[in-house]
Amino acid sequence: MSISSRVIYLDSNATTPVMPLALEAARAVMEDDYGNPSSVHSSGLQAKAVMDQARKTACDLLGASEGRLLFVSGATEGIQTAVFSALLALRDRQSKGETVATDLLYGATEHKAVPESLHHWNTVLNLDFRIIAIPVDQAGRHDLEFLKQHIPHAGLVCTMAANNETGVITDLVAIENLLKDSPAYWLVDGVQALGKLPLKLNQHRIDYSLFSGHKLYAPKGIGMLYVHKDAPFTPLLAGGGQESSLRSGTENVSGIAALGAVMQALNDGVSFRDHATLTRFRLQLLDAMRDAFPGLILNASLAESLPTTLNFSVPGLTSKEILDLFDAADVRVSAGSACSAAKAQPSFVLQAMSLPEWQAASAVRVSFGPATTQEYIDEACKRVRVCGEALRKTCMVTGDIEPLPADGLMQLTFGAACTWIIASAATKECVVIDPLPELIERIAKYMRCQHYTVKAILSTRSHVNQSQHNQSLIQLLGEGFVGKASDADGFYADSIDSTGSPCLQLGDKELLQITVQVNQEERCVYLYGDLESGVQFAFIGDLMQDERVDSDQLLSVRQQLSPSSLLCAAHDFDKQLVTRLEAPCVCNLDDVTIPSSGLHDFLKSHPKAIMVDVREPYEQQLSHFDVPEGTEVLHVPLSRLANGVDRWLRSSTEEKADLLFFCRTGGRSSQAVQCLRRLGYDQAWHIAGGLALWQH
Ligand code: PLP
Repeated sequence: MSISSRVIYLDSNATTPVMPLALEAARAVMEDDYGNPSSVHSSGLQAKAVMDQARKTACDLLGASEGRLLFVSGATEGIQTAVFSALLALRDRQSKGETVATDLLYGATEHKAVPESLHHWNTVLNLDFRIIAIPVDQAGRHDLEFLKQHIPHAGLVCTMAANNETGVITDLVAIENLLKDSPAYWLVDGVQALGKLPLKLNQHRIDYSLFSGHKLYAPKGIGMLYVHKDAPFTPLLAGGGQESSLRSGTENVSGIAALGAVMQALNDGVSFRDHATLTRFRLQLLDAMRDAFPGLILNASLAESLPTTLNFSVPGLTSKEILDLFDAADVRVSAGSACSAAKAQPSFVLQAMSLPEWQAASAVRVSFGPATTQEYIDEACKRVRVCGEALRKTCMVTGDIEPLPADGLMQLTFGAACTWIIASAATKECVVIDPLPELIERIAKYMRCQHYTVKAILSTRSHVNQSQHNQSLIQLLGEGFVGKASDADGFYADSIDSTGSPCLQLGDKELLQITVQVNQEERCVYLYGDLESGVQFAFIGDLMQDERVDSDQLLSVRQQLSPSSLLCAAHDFDKQLVTRLEAPCVCNLDDVTIPSSGLHDFLKSHPKAIMVDVREPYEQQLSHFDVPEGTEVLHVPLSRLANGVDRWLRSSTEEKADLLFFCRTGGRSSQAVQCLRRLGYDQAWHIAGGLALWQH
C-alpha cells in the first residue's frame, strides 16, 4: 500500500485496496482477454487459460489439488454452498434410514454469515437440526471439552481459522483430533487466515473451506470455495454448466485473474511480509497506540492472534470517539462493535469471550494487510501519536500539554441520558448537573486536566441514585471540589441576584434553583444566565417528558422563562439537543440538506454563509480541510451547540447569518440543523455525507 494518499488505512480485516499487480491482471483481462471462458474461439480459450492458471496457483498455494476449488462471488456464497451441500447430504442420509446426528455446531465467534446460513438452510429445507454455538473462553479459544461432548450428535461443525474482530487463531489441529472418528462434516472459514497463516487443506480432513478475494488485495466479488474430494456437494447455482456444472454463471474472469495474481505474489516472497516482520509491525503500532491512549487494554492475546490484528479498548473512551478521532487524522480503523452515538452495541464476539460489557462496547479494531511496508507503519505510528496529542490538548486523556480552556455549556451523553456542565473560563470553575455514573471518571479527569474546580454538583432528580453518583464524583474530584454545605440536591446560594433571590454565582452569571411538585415528589429545576436579562438555559430534568406533569405544575417554571430560554433535559431520546417552551417549528430534513456536490452552488447563492464544524474539539484539532476561499468557518462542537444556538437565536435580523453545518459523515450536522430549525431559525442547512464525501 502506498502512502502517497493522505489516508492511512488500518481496516484490512474489513477489506483491502486492490494490489497494483492484481489491478494489472484484472485490467489485462478486461481489455485484452475479455472472452467468455465457455466460448470455443481463441478469445474464449485465452480467458479460460487465465482462469485455469489462477486455479492452479491457488490450488498449489492452499494444498488443495486433491479436492475441488471453485471460484465463487465471495466467502458468503462459499458458506451458503457448503452449508446447503452438507445439510442436503444429511437429509439424504436420513431419508435412507441412516441415523444421522441432530446438531449443527458453530463457534460462538464465527462471522454472522455462518450461523445465519445454518438457520436459513435449516428453515428453507424444512429440517429440524438443533443449531448450537460452541462457547469460547476469555481468550477467544473454542471450548474443546464442550466440542468433545457434542461431537457425537454433530452433523456439521463450523470453525473459523482466524477471527475477523480479534484475530484469534483457532487450534485447527486440536479440533481435527476431536473430529477424527466423527462422520460430521467440517467447515473452516479461511477468510482471515489467507495470506497470514500457512494453510494446507489436503493435510487436514477439512470438508469445506472458503476465502474472500477482497480481504487480500483482490477486488470485491470474487472468492474461492474448497470442497474435499469426498465431501458431498450440491450446486447452489444451476445454469450454463460453468465450473464443471458445480457453480453456473459466467465467470468473473477479471476478478479471478486478480486473485490469481495475488496468490502468485504470495509465492514470490517479495510482496508479502513474513510472520516475524508482521509481528514487529504490530508491536510498533501497539507502542504508538499505548502512547496515544494510556491505559489501553488488549482484548485478545498477541501470542494467539493474527500478527496483523489488534483489538483493544480504552477506559473512558467510546469506540465512536476513537473512530472519529482517527478519521479526522485520516486514519481508518474500525469499531470492534456496531456503534451508534455514544452508546455502542457491544461486539458479540467480545461478549462471547465474556469480556466486561464496557470493553465489549468500546472496542477498536486495527488491522493491516500482510503486504504493508515499514514506511507505512512508521507513518501510521506518527499519525496515531498526533491523535494522542489532540486528545491531551482537549482533555480527553490527561497529559502534559496545556489544554484548550473550556467555557460555556457542555452536554455529555451516555445513550439518551445527559449530564450538563457549565464552565467559566474566567474563574476556572464549573457546575455539574446530573452526572451519570458512566461519565464521572471522565468528568473528574477533565476537571483535573483543565485545572478547573467544581463549585457544585446538582441533581434534577431525574436519574436513579443521582445523589449517590454526585457523592462519587465529589470523592473522585478530591480537592477539585470546592462546594459549600448544600441541600440534598447539591444546591447552595452564595450571592443574591438582581431580583433579590439567593443564587449560586458562576463567573459573571447566576444559577437559581426552583422546585416543582409532581404528584407526591419534588423535582428540581435550575435556571442559568445573567438572570437580569433573562434565563439563558433551564435544566429541567425530565419534566417536559413526564406525562404526569400538567401545565399548572409547570407554571412556576414558565413564569421564570423568556421565549428565548433554552431547555436542557436529563434525557434526549430524540436527539433534540435543546428545546424551548414554545411549540417547535416543523423541520423537514430533506429541505435543509445540501448534497456534497451542491456545496459550491450553495456558497455562491449564499455568499455570506458561515460553515459550522460541529465535530468535537479533538477532531477539529486534527483535520485539515479545504473550504472555498473567503468562507468563514466556525467551530461549535455538537456537545457545545447549546451556546451557539443561544447566540444565533438571539441575533438581530441584520446579524442573522446563513449557517451551513457539517461534520464527518452528516449525522451530527443533521442533528444541529434540525435543532436550530425546530427552534425557528430558518437560515440553517447541513451538508449530507459531511467531510467524508465533500472532501473526497
Ligand atoms: N468470514 C469472515 C471471517 C469474514 O471476515 C468475512 C467478512 O468480513 C466473511 C466471512 C464474509 O465475507 P464476504 O462478505 O466477502 O462474503
